[in-house]
Amino acid sequence: MSFEPCQIAGEEATDNPTDLVAEYNIVEIFHSVQGEGFRSGIPHVFIRLGKCNLRCEWCDTNFDEYTPMKAIDILGEVLNYPCKNIVFTGGEPMLNDLWPLSRLFHRRGYHLSIESNGTVEIPDGLLDWICISPKDQLYPNVRLKQRHGDELKCVYVGQPLDMYSELKAGFDHHYLQPCYDEQASIEENGRSFALTEQVVKENPGWRLSLQTHKWMGIL
Ligand code: SF4
Repeated sequence: MSFEPCQIAGEEATDNPTDLVAEYNIVEIFHSVQGEGFRSGIPHVFIRLGKCNLRCEWCDTNFDEYTPMKAIDILGEVLNYPCKNIVFTGGEPMLNDLWPLSRLFHRRGYHLSIESNGTVEIPDGLLDWICISPKDQLYPNVRLKQRHGDELKCVYVGQPLDMYSELKAGFDHHYLQPCYDEQASIEENGRSFALTEQVVKENPGWRLSLQTHKWMGIL
């Protein structure tokens, strides 16, 4: 597979060969619309990477089933979509060295977002939009290493919000998201939504995030 070289500062530049052969464990790559958080409604290509260092009880991703893919093949697949926005998700995408993919996509003008649990520090310049969804409401002993970014998105299960008082300062946007359990009844999920809505009304520093893609029946 070959790609068009791109122009940088008037010079023809080519991809770094080692970037093209970097290998990643890929669960799935798909084109959809971001359904939650600040960038909700914007079409993105989602690159879901395998493996996670946590095991949240509400997790709806089978991150242990993946296929190794070289960056050149990931690039080739993403180029098929008429979309210049990418979300790295998982699993925990920061368990991977994302620099090769970052260089390949940035050079082609892509906007790169990540959804991470924050347990791995994210280097400056790697990505363009950082959404951290901490899981310390489940794992109080897990140390959050990425303490700044664009978006803090917390699954609300009744935890005291003052646990985020310090962390909030590092983020521009603060979201509480009800825990939507696909196995649970409509009534149970409804109670979770109502509880989160009430907490957001009582705590104006937070906004409500809903997983609208699940309601629409899309990925
Ligand atoms: S951190 Fe995210 S991907 Fe990992 S187990 Fe929890 S919900 Fe699932």
